[in-house]
Amino acid sequence: MARKIQAIRGMNDILPDQSSVWLYLEKTVAEVVKSYGYQQIRFPIVENTDLFKRGVGETTDIVEKEMYTFEDRNGESLTLRPEGTASCVRAADQAGLLFNQTQRLWYMGPMFRYERPQKGRYRQFHQIGVESFGIASADIDAELIILSARLWKKLGLLEHVELQLNTIGLASEREAYKAALVEYLTEFKEQLDEDSQRRLTTNPLRILDSKDEATQAVLQKAPNLEDFIGEESQAHFERLRAILAANGIASVINRRLVRGLDYYGKTVFEWVTTHLGSQATVCAGGRYDGLVEQLGGKATPGVGFAMGVERLVLLLDTLNLIPDEAKFSTDVFVISMGDDAELASFVMAEQLRHAIPNLVVLRHCGGGNFKNQMKKADKSAARFTIILGQDEVEQQVCQVKDMSSGEQQTQPLDSVVEYIRSKL
Ligand code: ATP
Ligand code: MG
Repeated sequence: MARKIQAIRGMNDILPDQSSVWLYLEKTVAEVVKSYGYQQIRFPIVENTDLFKRGVGETTDIVEKEMYTFEDRNGESLTLRPEGTASCVRAADQAGLLFNQTQRLWYMGPMFRYERPQKGRYRQFHQIGVESFGIASADIDAELIILSARLWKKLGLLEHVELQLNTIGLASEREAYKAALVEYLTEFKEQLDEDSQRRLTTNPLRILDSKDEATQAVLQKAPNLEDFIGEESQAHFERLRAILAANGIASVINRRLVRGLDYYGKTVFEWVTTHLGSQATVCAGGRYDGLVEQLGGKATPGVGFAMGVERLVLLLDTLNLIPDEAKFSTDVFVISMGDDAELASFVMAEQLRHAIPNLVVLRHCGGGNFKNQMKKADKSAARFTIILGQDEVEQQVCQVKDMSSGEQQTQPLDSVVEYIRSKL
């Protein structure tokens, strides 16, 4: 036998028993974002490497060590997208959708990061992203958070996630803070973990995020970012909090929340759960007013977030929140024997699908005797089995078996649609 080829480590197949949860989540998101006026945008999975280097930032974890980068056959450096915001900006700007107008956009699809695979962390994973452009005021930050809260509510997740909020100010404010932080931390350099020592010169803000205890101990007495936040950023933050409060959305302020991507400024936020171990963030985002310009467009404010689909699916599964209607099930199984019955059963199955939207009608294909077909009907867990043989066709009837009671009835072919409808 030929050797079987396995999937790439950290890249998962989503099998039929899981795909209905994905479809349910995607459908729910699509409905919620649409109700806020967001339109879908789709962009390629592969982009020029420079887009992410400039967009996400050279000294971020993503660009330093997580990207799938390769040379095209003509020597161009390409990268499998590690996130969607940079591509979304590229696509929207390229189409002239950004300057002097507002946009509300969303997307979903696979992202690729070379990370150590574990529960909730994969090398191909999926994000649903929501972005808005052209609005500088805090009301749009609030809208995005309110939208995400509505989604959690619809999914039954609201009580299982916590909103963490912070403001990281303007670039100039962060620069001043970085200088103060580096000055303080340099004194204790030896006590910092290895990553944090390196970040002292590359990306000092990220040190705040360190999980290392010794580093966290040193940070206890470090200067506070909050003290460097100017009036404009502070007012923006207060307004956001006021709108959230007026909408009954609880949040906690996490002054250590900085996010791992360079493009954020002012608002940053994460929705965090206690149910998923250390892969706790199911949704993360913030404001990125400098990004469009950084990528060569005209200065345009932006704000957005991305949800991790695998983590949300895990959470829905863990908490048993998949409604029965979202699970795949067969309503009617159709079996037949003989050429005439086969033809009649096709026609009847089509009538059922046409007349009753969303009805799942599985017509057995491949022949076989009644006994074997009946076994398949049992296995399908269908609610009804409709049976058609030569006798039935001659009399223009069929047998309808209620699979839970075992009761079987003869029904005229021309009233079977009404009969099934009345039983649903
Ligand atoms: P983390 O701190 O968990 O590495 P991040 O800050 O790198 O997350 P973002 O780039 O902000 O994550 O991505 C937004 C969301 O996408 C995350 O909150 C998470 O739900 C999901 N996500 C990110 N990386 C992965 C991954 N490798 N596998 C699965 N989901 C992921
Ligand atoms: Mg990460």
